[in-house]
Amino acid sequence: MKTFVIEIEGLVQGVGFRPFVYKLASSMGLEGTVENLNTGVRVMVNSSNESLEKFIEKIWSDPPLQSQVESVVVNEVSPVYFSGFSIITSSNLSEEVTRISPDIAVCDNCLADMEKQEHRIGYPLINCTNCGPRFSIIKGLPYDRPLTTMSRFKMCKQCSIEYNNPNDRRFHAQPVACNNCGPVYSMLIDESEIKGANDIIERTAEIIDGGGIVALKGTGGYHLVCDALNEDAVASLRKAKEREGKPFAVMCRDIDCVKEITRPGEEEIETLKSWHKPVLIIQGKDIVAPSVSNGLRTVGVILPYMPFHYLLFSKLNTGVIVFTSANLAEEPVITDDEEAKDKLGSFADAVVKYNREIYNRTDDSVGRYIAGEVRIIRRSRGYAPTPVKIRFNAEGVFGAGAELTNCFGMGKGQNLILSQHIGDLKNAATSEFFATAYSRFAGMFRFQPEIVARDLHPDYLSSVFAEKLAMESCVPVHMVQHHHAHITSCMAENGISSKVIGVAMDGVGLGSDGKIWGGEFLIADLCDFSRIMHFDYVPVAGGDYASKEPWRSGLSWLIKYLGEDAISDDMPIIKNTGHEKFKLYTELVEKEINTSYYSSAGRLFDAVAAITGLCHTAKFHSEAPMRLEAAICKGINTHYGYDISRGIISFGKTIGEIVHDLKAGISPGEISARFHNTVARAVVDGIMRVSDISGIKDIVLSGGTFQNRYLTEKIISELLSGKFYVYYHHNIPVNDGGLALGQVAVAAARRDTGMI
Ligand SMILES: [Zn+2]
Ligand SMILES: [Zn+2]
Repeated sequence: MKTFVIEIEGLVQGVGFRPFVYKLASSMGLEGTVENLNTGVRVMVNSSNESLEKFIEKIWSDPPLQSQVESVVVNEVSPVYFSGFSIITSSNLSEEVTRISPDIAVCDNCLADMEKQEHRIGYPLINCTNCGPRFSIIKGLPYDRPLTTMSRFKMCKQCSIEYNNPNDRRFHAQPVACNNCGPVYSMLIDESEIKGANDIIERTAEIIDGGGIVALKGTGGYHLVCDALNEDAVASLRKAKEREGKPFAVMCRDIDCVKEITRPGEEEIETLKSWHKPVLIIQGKDIVAPSVSNGLRTVGVILPYMPFHYLLFSKLNTGVIVFTSANLAEEPVITDDEEAKDKLGSFADAVVKYNREIYNRTDDSVGRYIAGEVRIIRRSRGYAPTPVKIRFNAEGVFGAGAELTNCFGMGKGQNLILSQHIGDLKNAATSEFFATAYSRFAGMFRFQPEIVARDLHPDYLSSVFAEKLAMESCVPVHMVQHHHAHITSCMAENGISSKVIGVAMDGVGLGSDGKIWGGEFLIADLCDFSRIMHFDYVPVAGGDYASKEPWRSGLSWLIKYLGEDAISDDMPIIKNTGHEKFKLYTELVEKEINTSYYSSAGRLFDAVAAITGLCHTAKFHSEAPMRLEAAICKGINTHYGYDISRGIISFGKTIGEIVHDLKAGISPGEISARFHNTVARAVVDGIMRVSDISGIKDIVLSGGTFQNRYLTEKIISELLSGKFYVYYHHNIPVNDGGLALGQVAVAAARRDTGMI
């Protein structure tokens, strides 16, 4: 018999790992201990070599569902005497924290307990070691109840017995609670407060089925819910949210109901049912109320993930409810009960809350099936703050992210910890969320900045924050060009570091020449890049209004490539703009008043959406490209002309032929399909030319435009048949939400090579 120390790293805390080790060791008759460290789990065990081998094998093969074992290191030490096997108190031994479990959707065993366990009958906050809130309630590490927002709830005798029994599913489940001792729901309605879960659930269901709106506290923030089949209810919710256009997500009772309203594929069904429970954007069937998706053909769908959701559906007549974050006018989702009462109580028919504090705000994550798998395009509840494994040392590197759909990132050894989705850093409330989240992450993960990386754009609030942080910490600031960061983000996620051809397409990103980029072909490695090819520059007037008013791009593209005289008053865009405004705008562009030069794919898509009359002004971010994609007629393989010469791809011919098609009465859907085919063809053509010169076959695709499924799948399939290796994002958003990873990768790589 020898004594071994086994150190297990990965996602092994807050996921029932110690009880699993305890049961395994006990079943094998092994003696020893298991404990949580900051870095993972440490097991000490007395064993023969043979038993040890079996023990390790089981750790790899049968760990708890939500855990993720990344490494198991075994060392023999001098013999220690143990009596039986026990779980010992968490130690706080090192500064190397990399793991905090994301929130986990309620498990099937808990749903069953909710019907049969006497003290938990209908308990709407039931949880166990395999499920329940984690990141949203954690204030510090190690993960133990006193450092969570459950600290103020004293366990009853029964919960305490379960909590202390290694054979119980609730052994050391930090948020463990029941009807007798745990947090409770309450409902604010008509100036009075209702208590008692059953009554609250029944009243909530009545309000929703009756066409009303309820503000409902979720895991990481409040949601607004109403019947998704009732157009009046959805329309009034839209009005109340001050958000006229952006599609709402819907929650379905179960997977059958998802199939009734959308056409999910096998993998989408699997992801919807997974413990992460993201919203997936799926092809719809025009069954939910028109105001839900507002003219788009897709629906954002999610399944229930809190016990309360299941209880609610058991009382509801409708099988689909609108399930949208409760935030007003681009502010972060509301987490505070008082704020919910003040801001949501004014228009919601009731506010339903529970008295456990949400410490870390999280939105619902969002995914979309693109080119063979579900890709995460907003990474928050259920995913954050799981680290991303990278192949280089990023210790101490902070990436501030971009301005839109911001997430920031922190390097911890060979891990990058990406924050939850913060949002658009355009207002004071979101900037405050950014700063608070930073200090909480720095505290929890024991992060000390050594290098700060930021976007080239000096006015982004993330850049301003980065400068201030660097000054306060006396560390250097490092600027990373936006599209280089997109490409390196995708490289880091895919574990590649050699030179690649990177195609970055998005709406805006400041280029090294002071112009606005977004249709870029780079030869890049982690340290640096050269810009080999790009979309032709087109001047657009209006500053920030350029992205909000696609008609500006429409006119700019027409003026540049066809000339003012070729634009006639019978074109949809001129009908929508008015002749006067068109003349005025032409003058602005000609005189270069408040005008910037764009090589941006986002603006090109805006232009075509406006020219074809599909989107004149955008009511939400990226509306025009989304409407253009939604309009695509299937089965069209033709394309328009374009030019590539001297490193510039021009869509002048494309615009001319689109106008010709419009005049010939071709539908916008057919034009959209041809336009998408053209961009795909031009991108592949561009890549082949860059590859011919450079000999590089590794292609990296990144940037928000690659959220366009039709375009991305077309490009990837053509590249694969051309014998290229194609790298694309999986769990890190392809949009600016993944940018911080690229910033960290560049700064870390430059430090490694001695460039800084
Ligand atoms: Zn459970
Ligand atoms: Zn209890």
